[in-house]
Amino acid sequence: MDLRTSEPYWLLKSGLLNVYPSLQEDLKVDVAIMGGGITGALVAYYLSQAGLSVTVCDRRHIGMGSTCASTGLLQYEIDKPLFELTELVGEQHAARSYLLCLESIAKIGELTRKLKINAEFERKQSFYYASRKKDVPDQIEKEYKIRRQCGIEVELLGAEAIAKLFPFQAPAALLSDTGAQVDAYRLAQGLLQASLKNGARVFDQTEIVEIEHQSRGVLLRTEHGHTIKAKKLVIANGYEAHNYLPFNVIRLHSTYAWVSEPLSQKEIWYQNCLIWETATPYLYMRTTADRRVLVGGKDETFYSPGKRDKLLTRKTRELVEAFGRKFPDIPIRVDFAWAGTFAETEDGLPYIGSIKQLPHTYFALGFGGNGITFSQIAAEIIRDFAIGKKNADAKIFTFDRSK
Ligand SMILES: Cc1cc2nc3c(=O)[nH]c(=O)nc-3n(C[C@H](O)[C@H](O)[C@H](O)COP(=O)(O)OP(=O)(O)OC[C@H]3O[C@@H](n4cnc5c(N)ncnc54)[C@H](O)[C@@H]3O)c2cc1C
Repeated sequence: MDLRTSEPYWLLKSGLLNVYPSLQEDLKVDVAIMGGGITGALVAYYLSQAGLSVTVCDRRHIGMGSTCASTGLLQYEIDKPLFELTELVGEQHAARSYLLCLESIAKIGELTRKLKINAEFERKQSFYYASRKKDVPDQIEKEYKIRRQCGIEVELLGAEAIAKLFPFQAPAALLSDTGAQVDAYRLAQGLLQASLKNGARVFDQTEIVEIEHQSRGVLLRTEHGHTIKAKKLVIANGYEAHNYLPFNVIRLHSTYAWVSEPLSQKEIWYQNCLIWETATPYLYMRTTADRRVLVGGKDETFYSPGKRDKLLTRKTRELVEAFGRKFPDIPIRVDFAWAGTFAETEDGLPYIGSIKQLPHTYFALGFGGNGITFSQIAAEIIRDFAIGKKNADAKIFTFDRSK
């Protein structure tokens, strides 16, 4: 599958951070992880930290799937507003999903500190504005009320308050203190380096081409003819996971982003907060540690790499114009632009867990705009499954929920 165009900013910026070998022998491990993106890296870290023998295989170079294309906003607010999610999955599961995402942001921050991973993790406020007047009663006010009921601290801003903070107008907005931003590519690399220290083995350029589900585990075959015998398999292969599922749970989309040349000012806009909106698809903006503006959105509801990439110039121009309408006084020049494939689920939640057709196998599929926080949730749930510990949150993300 073609996941992205060739110039995502994070990959160009950091390049080949670490070198990993391809698998050249047969292995026997507790857990084999298919995929060395941010999800596989988090799962590998948690499992190896729990004392399990772990191996990670990626058919590409490490982190060079969707992870290096990610724009790295960490938000507890998932693509479905809480009031909508409540209608879809019930009050308890919806509220818990939001709270788990909140906790995940703090946990990712803690990991970067503890493991000294230089992934530009920074806490940021999240500013979510009403794109149209009618979104105030229909979305912002409902969302404000329900988040407060769940104990989530959030501030409701009216047009006047917004005008004091930003050069653009919006009829209302929610401001939360609890967002963050990160370089997902560096984070994945750092977590895998920490996993190596825990005894894990990491191989890139090693595609798993065959999975045999046996009575006591799985037998994997790689493209080079080697085998991995594992008690458990974790499928953390991102948007390519649908190849392994006997039913479809995702819709594939195309999305676009660009990053500007560095600017001179340190504070580019109010607190350099994360900015996004109620419209679908939404426009989103963040800044980077080296003072760039990063803007994304203009999603299309198709998976067709050729069509996706042909649109890159037009989409970049549209995103630049959209940014200019919000911040007419910030002079930007696009440095890099890229497009990526993106997956969403019906309820906006990830799929984590197993299906009865594939024994000894867990899926860790963090789909949607919150892929990275979902990956953190997946890593903890799968760690608990693997060590035989009960996880009360696992039921929220099972495959059964959509049936
Ligand atoms: C443009 C863009 C912007 C985004 N912005 C955000 C954001 O702001 N915040 C956020 O939280 N999320 C965001 N996301 C989503 C986020 O990037 C993804 O959720 C995340 O990168 C998925 O990580 P992953 O490890 O699951 O998948 P990947 O990074 O794709 O890793 C999966 C790996 O599995 C490997 N693989 C596949 N099949 C096999 C096989 N058979 N054998 C061996 N290896 C295999 C692939 O080579 C790949 O490297 C964005 C995504 C895109 C494209």
